[in-house]
Amino acid sequence: MADDALQNMLAQMENAEPYIDIDPGVFERLKHPERTLKVSLPVEMDDGSVQVFEGYRCQFDSARGPYKGGIRYHPGVSMDEVTALSGWMTWKTALVDLPYGGAKGGVVCNPKEMSDREVERLTRRYTEGIRRMIGPDIDVPAPDINTDQQTMAWIMDTYSMYGGYVIPDVVTGKPIEVGGTAGRLEATGRGVAITTERMFEYLDRDLEDATVAVQGFGNVGSVTARLLSNMGATVVAVSDVSGGIYDPDGLDVMAVEQHVAKNATLDGYEAGVTRISNDELLRLDVDALIPAAIENVITEDVARETEASLVVEAANGPTTVAADEILLERDIPVVPDILANAGGVIVSYLEWVQNSQQYSWDLKQVNEDLEGRLTRAFDEMLDTYTARECPDLRTAAYAVALERVGHAHEMRGLFP
Ligand code: NAD
Repeated sequence: MADDALQNMLAQMENAEPYIDIDPGVFERLKHPERTLKVSLPVEMDDGSVQVFEGYRCQFDSARGPYKGGIRYHPGVSMDEVTALSGWMTWKTALVDLPYGGAKGGVVCNPKEMSDREVERLTRRYTEGIRRMIGPDIDVPAPDINTDQQTMAWIMDTYSMYGGYVIPDVVTGKPIEVGGTAGRLEATGRGVAITTERMFEYLDRDLEDATVAVQGFGNVGSVTARLLSNMGATVVAVSDVSGGIYDPDGLDVMAVEQHVAKNATLDGYEAGVTRISNDELLRLDVDALIPAAIENVITEDVARETEASLVVEAANGPTTVAADEILLERDIPVVPDILANAGGVIVSYLEWVQNSQQYSWDLKQVNEDLEGRLTRAFDEMLDTYTARECPDLRTAAYAVALERVGHAHEMRGLFP
């Protein structure tokens, strides 16, 4: 699975190569991450035993600014997976034109089976393990799967303890109390909702009449579902690792959120819904299918069989390259991850800017800035798609991003 993610990311780059104008040597360079650190993390468990976890931080590219990217806690984390994710971060920050490069970190663990104290000890030990390579002007982590505001507060605290003073801008996605920004918690889902709305406008379809299915009901999936429902769409299905729920008349998204807040999963939610599998959700006849969980879920089989009319990639890397080709043949557009889920890193950037200025913005200013940046990137992707006759939106998005990073390398030159 993880190997596929890296192969997919590299294949997506190759697909865009004919549509870009950069030096071939620079393009070759872009296929290789700058460095990856692997750390062993001995952690005392609550029963007194010691477990050794494996963690990574991959810094893919920094031609345009400090490395930026989340930290994932998941049993499926591997060096190849963080490498792919760090590459996607590089193209994402370039596409939405932030002064950042790309990075990603992860720890192989299942935090759902650990106590809060164990997760805190693991987080502090991981921070110690990577602290020599992160920093406000070097590499700035953020949340990803199974990490959240609390995780970021522990990282910020540990890093600050070593520094001897408070250093909030070493991470973004922090709680407001320790330098977080208004709007960060919802930013990724808000961005997905905004790009879905723009795509409906572009396709001349009405979002208010649309049905939507969302795979993954964590931070990104739940906010996406709620905001699209508020915009008038009918969210007919959502799922998580325990499976999915379906109601053709539309789910009460707020009630589902409350259930998950109380029970941690969708399991046990029964209010007039049919239980479906994740596989069934991906094949539903809906106007928009939004994968918001993990990589490689839209396989060739799913691409062949889905009855969805549009895919908006809230997760990173949910569609395999082979599936992409089938969706293209079937005329099912895909809004690529590096645009659709860029809301998170945009508001992370706004948090970092506020921290460095020691000044805070209100929610209105944050959300307006987010919408403006995403809309500009969406329009640039569409202009490139039309002007360069790209086969699909992903290729157009990659063309914009690869050229930005490539030209930065060309300007800086090859050291030494
Ligand atoms: P999260 O941990 O809050 O939620 C993940 C959700 O996916 C949960 O509902 C979980 O049950 C579900 N899930 C996990 N494995 C699954 C499986 N095999 N099948 C079905 N569902 C499964 O994570 P998140 O922060 O919401 O991230 C979701 C996706 O969005 C990831 O691909 C992540 O990289 C991407 N993303 C997140 C952010 C962010 O700001 N958090 C930003 C950009 C992209």
